[in-house]
Amino acid sequence: MRIAILGAGYGGMAAAFDLVRARHQVTIFEAAGHVGGLAAGFKEPHWDWSVENYYHHWFASDKHMLGLIDELGLSEKVLFPRPYTVLLHKDKWYPFDSILNAILFPGLGWGLNKARFGLVGLYLRLTNNWKVLEKYTVDEWMGRWAGKTVYEKMWQPLVIGKFGPYANQVNMAWLWARLKARTTRLGTFEGGFQAFADAFGEKLRTLGVEIKLNTPIQAIQPQVDHTLKIQTDETGQNDETKFDQCLVTSSPRQFADLAPDLPKDYLKGLLELKSMGAVVMTLALKHKLSEAGHYWHNLPKNAGYPFLALVEHTNYVSPEHFGGDHIVYCGDYLESDHEYFELSEAELLERFIPALKRFNPKFERGWIRKTWLHRTKYGQPVPLVNHSQNIPSIQTPINGLYFASMSQVYPWDRGTNYAVEIGREAARLMGKDYPK
Ligand SMILES: Cc1cc2nc3c(=O)[nH]c(=O)nc-3n(C[C@H](O)[C@H](O)[C@H](O)COP(=O)(O)OP(=O)(O)OC[C@H]3O[C@@H](n4cnc5c(N)ncnc54)[C@H](O)[C@@H]3O)c2cc1C
Repeated sequence: MRIAILGAGYGGMAAAFDLVRARHQVTIFEAAGHVGGLAAGFKEPHWDWSVENYYHHWFASDKHMLGLIDELGLSEKVLFPRPYTVLLHKDKWYPFDSILNAILFPGLGWGLNKARFGLVGLYLRLTNNWKVLEKYTVDEWMGRWAGKTVYEKMWQPLVIGKFGPYANQVNMAWLWARLKARTTRLGTFEGGFQAFADAFGEKLRTLGVEIKLNTPIQAIQPQVDHTLKIQTDETGQNDETKFDQCLVTSSPRQFADLAPDLPKDYLKGLLELKSMGAVVMTLALKHKLSEAGHYWHNLPKNAGYPFLALVEHTNYVSPEHFGGDHIVYCGDYLESDHEYFELSEAELLERFIPALKRFNPKFERGWIRKTWLHRTKYGQPVPLVNHSQNIPSIQTPINGLYFASMSQVYPWDRGTNYAVEIGREAARLMGKDYPK
């Protein structure tokens, strides 16, 4: 078959890997000038490693991603350094990334609350029954079983931080999935995520996949002969090519715009899915910001910081890979009409600078060597109550047209591991449907 894939993120590349090895003719169309999608990175001339546009790491439980890396023969390049995640309590930072640290965290006192926190955490780690949990909001379920104090202290800041106006509508299966699948060990790739994406892209090319960078797909139209017409503007002359199948890995909204011939109820399902955007500023500093060596600072929205998380990447990966620069991310999840999507990089930096002093009183503006700003309006799908009923199928009602995105990996939270899983599942379905 001639197969078109929209997107050279991990979903699209994983699908291409299986499809080309099943001897199909695969072309990936990628709007950006590089592979890697949301997990892509950038590099300064004096850095050996790339820095991710949005902070990224793998969990030790990411079996689809780690399995793929193994198949590619690159496992020895995966590293699992031990970084420190901390939580703010009464203006002090406390380690918060292991069961022991959670037990020692002073925010809950030593009475019933701590026991409820521990028991609820244990239950969620052990149960697999997320279908029951998705019937309740996190608010309802946690309020009832963990209690108001535990919920407000430990979980509500995370839910508000990630989902803003949707915080009290997010379902409990989302929190279950985070607790179930995440590990304290965090992994990365030697050279950064972009080094892996580039190696994967090269492997695909040697297998025969054509990757067309800087080539956005503009429309997908089903034809009477059951092929799909893919429209791009590669030569500046509204190019059109026919394919037997097409896999789309963009946001649901983009997909709806590209394929308006989809039946009304499938389109409606796509357009009703909610998501949050992400805004991340990366700073290269001349000095270390967190002298205690903390990697990930969780910041409750009500603590008055202009962002949700401060992540000092070089307290995870050594600054020697970045020519001595200390790399700090300031990130937030926001609605797509938030002013942070409009402000210039300089304006946003002015908002952020006073907060940096709260992490290190010695911090001065002169420490900043360079900044970068990355923003995406599609950064975090929002799972509402009974969300499993709202997930669009990978096989769309149009013959030969498939869709695999972050919004469909539910009950898991989005992540490169699940992009690989859904990409490979899409490839399996596409192979199964052939010949038509
Ligand atoms: C702030 C943030 C932090 C994250 N942290 C982590 C983390 O720590 N660990 C982790 O594993 N995951 C993390 N993720 C999630 C991870 O990045 C995604 O789950 C994963 O990259 C999704 O891959 P994908 O292939 O589904 O989509 P994408 O990576 O979005 O790929 C889709 C591709 O399609 C392209 N495209 C869109 N429209 C068109 C068009 N019309 N024509 C051609 N190409 C098009 C895009 O340019 C893009 O390259 C994070 C995401 C964000 C936003």
